Amino acid sequence: MSRYAYVNGRYLPFRDAKIHIEDRGYQFADGVYEVCEVRAGRLIDERRHFERLKRSLTETRIRMPMSPRALGVVLREVVARNRIGYGVVYLQISRGVARRDPAFPGPEVAPTVVATARPLNMMRNEALAARGIAVISVPDNRWGRVDIKTVGLLPNVLARQAAIDQGARDAWFVDKDGIVTEAASANAWIVAPDGILVTRHADRAILRGITRAVVLDAVKAQGLTVAERGFTLQEAYGAREAFETSATQIVMPVVRIDGHTIGDGKPGPVAIALRREFHRYAETG
Ligand code: PLP
Repeated sequence: MSRYAYVNGRYLPFRDAKIHIEDRGYQFADGVYEVCEVRAGRLIDERRHFERLKRSLTETRIRMPMSPRALGVVLREVVARNRIGYGVVYLQISRGVARRDPAFPGPEVAPTVVATARPLNMMRNEALAARGIAVISVPDNRWGRVDIKTVGLLPNVLARQAAIDQGARDAWFVDKDGIVTEAASANAWIVAPDGILVTRHADRAILRGITRAVVLDAVKAQGLTVAERGFTLQEAYGAREAFETSATQIVMPVVRIDGHTIGDGKPGPVAIALRREFHRYAETG
């Protein structure tokens, strides 16, 4: 089936969708992005994703290229043209194309807007969640503003590959104080031995995951106790359960960390229930 991408006002066949070599996203990772889950062809949590996008644009001082409403139309069109039932839609906005110079270009340079969509394999994801995944820990060597969703993801790329090279699926970043910050492309959670859910507080050291926010709503609505605080790797090894959250994985149970078995080595009841209930709390557009 043909794929289509949106590039600066045009819907193009995928093979023709190209960006200039002097795009600042390519040259400097001077761009921001969003990834939104698609279910039954509909965007999940669009409003919150656009709120975060607006914040990323404000923090990086990249101009909002069009209204969130217009961007929503673009995303829906990309989803429809690619006939996505279940999958993800990706949106990237860079500062635009200009002669290579770190300083901002003039106001005549328009941001570059790209959107793509691709299907996900639901059966494969469910099978993965039924088994749970293994993660490794890696030093958090990222910059001090990972709360901004920029396309500068090299530490995340290297962390993820290190995990794969070691036979694991993902990596959890650990800061210099031994506190788990988050996963390479997800937020990290544990269920402590006393049953309290723990996930790191959202400051500048983690990305404020939209899935994390929805899971917090779900947890509170269900009367579970949650603590938004840092937890150590040692706490994670001894946790009853562990899991990570992201738009592409929703709630993914973690059953091994650095070779330590978590709980009984199977996905735990809290993670399973949150995964099952998640879409009751998410907004469907
Ligand atoms: N943390 C990082 C570093 C990420 O890259 C992501 C998603 O890509 C997340 C957390 C989870 O965010 P969300 O739930 O909005 O997908």
